[in-house]
Amino acid sequence: TAPYLGNPKRTIEVLQKYDFVFQKKFGQNFLIDTHVLDKIISAAEITKEDFVLEIGPGIGTMTQYLACAAREVVAVEIDKALIPILEDTLQDYSNVTVLNEDILKVDIKKLADEHNNGKPIKVVANLPYYITTPIIMGLFEGDVPIESITVMVQKEVADRMQVGPGTKEYGALSLAVQYYAEPYIVANVPPNCFMPRPKVGSAVIRLTKHAEPPVEVFDTKLMFRIIRASFNQRRKTLANGLNNSPELSFGKEEIQRAIKACGFPEGIRGEALTLEEFAALTNEFKSK
Ligand code: SAM
Repeated sequence: TAPYLGNPKRTIEVLQKYDFVFQKKFGQNFLIDTHVLDKIISAAEITKEDFVLEIGPGIGTMTQYLACAAREVVAVEIDKALIPILEDTLQDYSNVTVLNEDILKVDIKKLADEHNNGKPIKVVANLPYYITTPIIMGLFEGDVPIESITVMVQKEVADRMQVGPGTKEYGALSLAVQYYAEPYIVANVPPNCFMPRPKVGSAVIRLTKHAEPPVEVFDTKLMFRIIRASFNQRRKTLANGLNNSPELSFGKEEIQRAIKACGFPEGIRGEALTLEEFAALTNEFKSK
């Protein structure tokens, strides 16, 4: 069956049939634009071999597209009011399973084991914006085999994921995402492509997981503590940031020595460093 949702008329019909009430707390903004849906599906490069995890199917609009493109789809939806709707809109798609659960509590590794022989999976979603970062970092940091994540997020968040040093959006999120993946902004999406309209602009971003991390560090957790410390006090120097962090316990001299050993100027700010430079700095703290 060809997808039939994804336009305002059909969406309103479904919502009225079930007296559906939008829940703000779940970040519900449903897609009503077929061009945007086509773009997401093509950016995700889904084939008939693929297992796809969809986070937050809503009324099943994108799920229909995914079901047509993929071998199998598991869609995880927290709102139980949407479950009878999904049973209806997805009845002709036999390769879809809907789970009524909170994605942050789902064992995704187990899903990949059971549905994809433990091989890397593709994640595709129009994400609920209130938990974008925990969802994406959870997928990267957990022991989950991931090939790519293609998601709709707030435009500002997509920008933060993609930029490098020297921009005001550059921060801990940029570095965390770029350590794990190659980001690529596929499209900007205006509020009128959703029902109801969000207050902010959106963007589709594809994160293709690196086969190997692009930098070598002896302690990744330490590197991310150093990164957070560097951006906690943006207008201060890197040395002060590291010195004042509650997460770190290096002495002042140790910090100065490490900064110098990396060849950075004494008064350098954290926001000037690349991922490679943060890795080099972290490795300076390896106890010799
Ligand atoms: N995919 C649909 C679309 O594009 O029209 C809906 C996208 S809407 C932005 C986000 C969806 O995620 C909603 O259906 C919402 O109920 C669901 N959701 C919110 N929090 C969730 C969570 N913690 N776990 C699973 N789904 C969640």
